[in-house]
Amino acid sequence: PILRVAIMGLGSYGTRVAEAMEACKRAKLVGVISGTPSKIKKWQSKYNIPEKNCYNYENFDAVKDNPDIDAVYVITPNGLHKDQSIRVAKAGKHVICEKPMGVNAAEGQAMVDACKAENVKLLIGYRMHFEPKTVAVIQMRKDGVFGDTKFFQGQSGFTIGDPTQWRLNKELSGGGAMMDIGIYSINGARYMLGEEPIWVTAQETKTDPIKFKEGIDETIQFQMGFPSGAVANCLSTYSMNYLDRFFMTGSKGFVEMQPSTGYGPIEGKTHEGKLTQPHITHQTLQMDGMAALLFEGVQPIVPVDGEEGVKDMKIIDAIFLAAKTGEKVML
Ligand code: NAD
Repeated sequence: PILRVAIMGLGSYGTRVAEAMEACKRAKLVGVISGTPSKIKKWQSKYNIPEKNCYNYENFDAVKDNPDIDAVYVITPNGLHKDQSIRVAKAGKHVICEKPMGVNAAEGQAMVDACKAENVKLLIGYRMHFEPKTVAVIQMRKDGVFGDTKFFQGQSGFTIGDPTQWRLNKELSGGGAMMDIGIYSINGARYMLGEEPIWVTAQETKTDPIKFKEGIDETIQFQMGFPSGAVANCLSTYSMNYLDRFFMTGSKGFVEMQPSTGYGPIEGKTHEGKLTQPHITHQTLQMDGMAALLFEGVQPIVPVDGEEGVKDMKIIDAIFLAAKTGEKVML
């Protein structure tokens, strides 16, 4: 079957996902949820979406009675994800939710619990878990190509513009660079090393307290320790541009990726040579992969379920605590 998806939140990333879905073999955009009638009209004509599959933020619970929609993809500001996802679950539809899944681990867990109770699946938009070079590197690590992996370095950031945008508003974003882009280094450390951290330390620097208000982190450097003894050293920032680099090294070899999580093409090399897997639009692969996951239970190399999302949220909570207290935080 084809996964019939309604997108909630027709902003810049929702637009990108919709365009990528045009190339999907297993997923199709069939509906929209938006507060802006003019955007709905535009999307309806571009994607041939029938009136009965269009909703706004007040009435979308009625998706419950729409047999032509299988899943709702929540692509709104972070602070709205939890309540919107739970409403979708209560309407009996599978939830695909963008990262970060919420603004803290408690929200993430509430979403997992609600989806379980309603007997629907919860998936998080971790597109890198479907990206061919990333998948190949994870497989190489599993095959022992790098030996015992000992060290990961993740650097994730960009220079953020407009100070009035929701990303710089604590209510809507839940935090600054860490929630938005630093999460790629957290998630990357976990899938690259293939372990879960047991402690974190973190140091925050803020050069512009006017733009980056209380609760909005500009730059955080953080470290994570893993059961094997491996360590990760990462940087998350909203004030350095084109910062998108992973490096991992072990007893036998290394991998270096730059860009490592951007929309691509991802580029990288190992001690054996260049990574040559093809570039395919991440969101196309992700949505086809999610269809296979929802319908046939085909698991990606690294999970994209709600529990996976909660793991990142717990680490973000710990990083914020470590940055605030200066203490090492055990997980
Ligand atoms: P955006 O500002 O471009 O779009 C957000 C949309 O939500 C807009 O259409 C806006 O109208 C709508 N919205 C609904 N209620 C709103 C409210 N109360 N306040 C503000 N906007 C409201 O943002 P975006 O870049 O599309 O990000 C949306 C989500 O997607 C975020 O969670 C973000 O982290 C995630 N994202 C993920 C990736 C990725 O690569 N996986 C990339 C970009 C964004």
